[in-house]
This record gives sequence, structure tokens and C-alpha cells, in this order.
Amino acid sequence: MPATVLVVEDEPAIQELIAFNLRQAGHIVLAAPSAESAQHLIKETLPDLILLDWMLPGMSGIDFAKKLKNDGYTKAIPVIMLTARGEEQDKVKGLETGADDYVTKPFSPRELNARIKAVLRRRAPQMTDEMVDVAGLALDPVTHRVTGNGAPVELGPTEFRLLHFLMTHPERVHSRTQLLDHVWGNQVFVEERTVDVHIRRLRRALEPTRHDALVQTVRGAGYRLSQR
Ligand code: CA
Repeated sequence: MPATVLVVEDEPAIQELIAFNLRQAGHIVLAAPSAESAQHLIKETLPDLILLDWMLPGMSGIDFAKKLKNDGYTKAIPVIMLTARGEEQDKVKGLETGADDYVTKPFSPRELNARIKAVLRRRAPQMTDEMVDVAGLALDPVTHRVTGNGAPVELGPTEFRLLHFLMTHPERVHSRTQLLDHVWGNQVFVEERTVDVHIRRLRRALEPTRHDALVQTVRGAGYRLSQR
């Protein structure tokens, strides 16, 4: 599954270079020249990862990182800070505010890709091949097998991706738009009610082992996977 990466960088040449490199690596790229415009973008699409330049016009990268980590809606998004050479103090401060990693400019595309991969593996488990288990419902991304209390559960490919996303982001409410972004990717012609159809199919498949109760509707907000 490709990751949606938001690049917040005010220098157009660097932003383009990073965006090109990310697209080559199969990611979906969102770009913003300032923290303020990044905030608007995030309201529309929740990225899987943010690459955040330290020195930005207006709100600084560090203040933006703090803001992201203090907001329940965005705090789980991993942040990689982009710093200039020799700003050792900045790196320390950046990590203290909750950034997950930092990369010093100039960096090679290969180095950046390696850092992104490492952070995603750590912070966004649905990007990896790790087995997930919630209350006896187990999903194996490698074999695409799902079991409820050991018994096989048959799921279509969309229901499988939907369940994988929900299981790796439990206890959080996801709007239909966010689910479309994360599960359907950039298939722009999919309507929001499609999400409801697939949630219904998913619940039906989970009914025999009563795991359908994990998939909860949050009125007026969206869906969440919760054991409570
Ligand atoms: Ca800058």
C-alpha cells in the first residue's frame, strides 16, 4: 500500500525534488509551502507521514510539529524534520517536540527513502507486513488471511484493506473521506456511501465470531474499530 506523504517545504526546488523522489518510490504526494497551508490540506486528507522543513515562513516547522502532536486528530502522524546542516541543537529540539526523525539537508534520495521506510514501519503498521490481532480477530497481510478465534473469515479485497486499516488505527474515529483516502487511495470517483456498503459487508463477514461489534459507527463522524 503506498503512503500519502505531505511535504511542507517553502523552497520550490527542494519541494519538487522530494516530491519527484517520493512518487518514484510509489507514494502519493501532497505538498504545502507553509505550515498554514499544510493545516488546510490536513483537514481534507490525513497523511500517513509528514516531511517538515524546519525553516518556514510564518509558523516555524518546530511550532507546527508541536501543534500536530498536541492535536488528537493529527498526533499519530509520524513527522520527519528536514534541517539544514550544522543545526545540531535544532535536531535535539525537534526530537523533543515529538518529531520521529530528522534528515539533514542536503540528503540523498536513497537516504530519505530509507528514513521514510523506517518511520512508517515504526509508526504506521498497516504499511508493513506485520500480523495484527485485536480481541481474537487476526489478520495476516502477507498471506491475506483473516481468522476470528482461529476460524477463517472470507473477505473481499476492499474489505480486507478496510479491516487492515481499522485494525492498525484502533480507537480512532475515521471519517468516510479519510477511509476513502487511506483504503481506496486516489480513486477519485468513489462516492462516500461506497464506504458504508463495504463496512456492511465487512460486518456481515465478521458476524459468525461476533467480531462485527468491533466495527462501530460513530454518528455524524464515521467509523472506528474499538473493543470498548
Ligand atoms: Ca525552508
